[in-house]
Amino acid sequence: MARGHAIVFSGASGTGKTSLTRRLLAADRDLILSISTTSRDPRGQERDGVDYHFIERGEFLDRVRAGRFFEWAEVHGNLYGSDRHWVEEQLASGKDVLFDIDVQGGHKLKDRLPDARLVLILPPSWEELERRLRGRGTDSDEVIERRMAAAKQEMKSASDYEEIIVNEDLASAVAQAESLIRLLRRTTDGRSHLQALVSA
Ligand code: 5GP
Repeated sequence: MARGHAIVFSGASGTGKTSLTRRLLAADRDLILSISTTSRDPRGQERDGVDYHFIERGEFLDRVRAGRFFEWAEVHGNLYGSDRHWVEEQLASGKDVLFDIDVQGGHKLKDRLPDARLVLILPPSWEELERRLRGRGTDSDEVIERRMAAAKQEMKSASDYEEIIVNEDLASAVAQAESLIRLLRRTTDGRSHLQALVSA
């Protein structure tokens, strides 16, 4: 059985990354989401074990010391990490694992898994990003400004991301992501075929 692929989606809030991820997962049984562990409190409808594994900050730091995270980072004052054992197990069983993590997490993952594919999700424009953030109706002007500044910072540090999806409309972003994943799988199959041919 071929090892699965690690696919990282990074993008600021308002880029539609979560909707995109959900659509992909619903349509593809060989693709699973890495549910991150976090020290932040659940928001709104979020459920433990579904959106995140919610734990205390102290417990998170104990796990860091025990080497239990594949990568971890502090984002807006909270700690987030991807569980090493779970990720290894899924990849070894041939599953393709999707990571919804920030750019620093993407870089760390790539250090450990050089075959990981880094995908950046972008909004079509600053105006549209702002419109989407305001459309949620949950954040103050100040929070929106902070999110916009953080988005710019994150984009600046993502110049080495290999793939970029501009999320102008969700359906075409989904189609683009699906074709990217299909190509990854086909390339891996091609490599195994090549290996078999040359070692025959
Ligand atoms: P939120 O608190 O809004 O759910 O997530 C804040 C940010 O943390 C998002 O950019 C998200 O991609 C990132 N994030 C979530 N899980 C992880 C993780 O396991 N590792 C890293 N590095 N970032 C994460």
